[in-house]
Amino acid sequence: MNFCPECGSKVEAKQIDHALRFVCINNECAGIYWNNPTPVVAALVKSGGDYILARNKSWPKGIFSLITGYLEAGEEAEAAVLREVSEELGLTGEVVHYLGHHMFKEKNQLILAFEVHATGTIVPGEELAEIKQVSVGELAAYNFKPLYITEAVIAQWRRVSHQC
Ligand SMILES: [Zn+2]
Repeated sequence: MNFCPECGSKVEAKQIDHALRFVCINNECAGIYWNNPTPVVAALVKSGGDYILARNKSWPKGIFSLITGYLEAGEEAEAAVLREVSEELGLTGEVVHYLGHHMFKEKNQLILAFEVHATGTIVPGEELAEIKQVSVGELAAYNFKPLYITEAVIAQWRRVSHQC
């Protein structure tokens, strides 16, 4: 960050409460930017007995993960995750398990993960390059490296669905 989004003045890094924050140099504004994490919802989707993994268009070949997206203002996390499943897979879903919250440090995101059981015919959205369907056993053994958040979500799924 170089400029204050409130007034357009320069910002400088200052130590406030054990961390460096960007602070606006304009004394009348004095905006402080806390760099709070952004919440993101993630869906582990089951449909027709299999789990659905997706590769986003911006990801390298061979990398598959969960369906993710940002919350809209005022939207509950459960509603957001079902909206993302509808937009990205064309499926109607229901939330069956909460799979925990996971800090994605590199992107400063707090991932809220859910297992969603969905019905319908898959129609991949514009953000997806390809999808892959895996059985329960394949998911339990799937190697998600280097996606450590996905690994943590799947570890939680193994606990709640007794796959370990
Ligand atoms: Zn300012």
